[in-house]
Amino acid sequence: MEHQEILHRCFRCGYCKFPSNYTDINCPAYLAHRFETFSPGGRMWLLSAWLNNRIGVSQRLGRIMFSCTGCGNCVEHCAMPGFKDQILLAFTAGRDAILESGTVPGPVRDYLTRVQNAGNPYGQSGKKRADWRTGTDAADYSGQEYLFFAGDVGAYDSRGQEIARTAAALLAKAGVDFGVLTDGECSDGNDVAMAGEKALFEELAGKNIKVFIERGVKKIITLSPHSFHAFKNLYPALGGQFQVFHYTQMLAFLLGRLSFKTPVEKTRVTFHDPCFLGRHNADYQSPRTMLAFTPGIELVEMDRNRKNALCCGGGGGNLFTDMISGGDDSPARARCREAAAAGATVLAVACPACAVMLGDAVKTEGLENRLQVREVSELVVERVA
Ligand code: SF4
Ligand code: SF4
Repeated sequence: MEHQEILHRCFRCGYCKFPSNYTDINCPAYLAHRFETFSPGGRMWLLSAWLNNRIGVSQRLGRIMFSCTGCGNCVEHCAMPGFKDQILLAFTAGRDAILESGTVPGPVRDYLTRVQNAGNPYGQSGKKRADWRTGTDAADYSGQEYLFFAGDVGAYDSRGQEIARTAAALLAKAGVDFGVLTDGECSDGNDVAMAGEKALFEELAGKNIKVFIERGVKKIITLSPHSFHAFKNLYPALGGQFQVFHYTQMLAFLLGRLSFKTPVEKTRVTFHDPCFLGRHNADYQSPRTMLAFTPGIELVEMDRNRKNALCCGGGGGNLFTDMISGGDDSPARARCREAAAAGATVLAVACPACAVMLGDAVKTEGLENRLQVREVSELVVERVA
């Protein structure tokens, strides 16, 4: 297994499961399950035990390994600079090895099968990928400066589609020249890669790279931070060299082109950093710049923000496989409580998967009357004159 050599170097100090101030649990899998084996250090030792034949492969081992969302908190906070950058790579390699063993939790197997067969985790036809833009002015891609890539959640989930329409409308208002591919593209594959399915990721990436090159795409704006991460950091090794922007990175610089209504009162908004824009790509500012620029918004921070943000629990395919599961300490529910405790009435997100996870959790927590989950361009567009 790749990166196997680092496993024995973890001495289970446990720093990796906390934020910088150690006041709360910040590994979403450990938060939800509270068994040491679900913590990053526990995973390291468990993988080591399996690879050294001290335990066998089992459904339980699979559930533990696939409950990791790939949030990167452990990489950020591990106390050992000598190997911390390889922790997540080792977990991904471990999941790859478990997939090869054939003992895979049912929801993970079903998720990967849907992606394999349909090119997306919803099992929907690829021909419906651009249906989200019905009722918008988003044009077919025909050589515009940018390709707008809605991603799986933006393309197929009803809440994700709303967000895709709003972000596209705001880009258009700001004068961005973009188009949408109506055929040929498939899942960005980021969460398949995080789940360890390297061959499937390479197949998906290969298809997207081929169609992007054939259509002359040079610059891409993504709705999802997951797509952004895959295109920016994973595709170049496979021959996909594109200039990639998350939509908040474009809009943070372009909002000055718009006129805003005069606000009647301020709304207290807190922002939930998406892991694949924040920790994985160190952009904590673009969505905050959008919120700070928009009149009528007062930004308040949760205790855990930026590199200390708590993952919503949806990464690594967990939006579909739910290896973290419900319970009072599901990370999405804990995050909604934290937003309410910060005094916010709006929990802003910049990722359609976060919108789905946190939107469901607000209802489960019974906080709908106190806290709304909104995407940042929704908050901006309704304040544009
Ligand atoms: S902080 Fe690093 S060394 Fe300590 S338990 Fe976590 S992974 Fe192991
Ligand atoms: S990547 Fe996130 S979920 Fe996975 S072990 Fe590290 S802290 Fe936990």
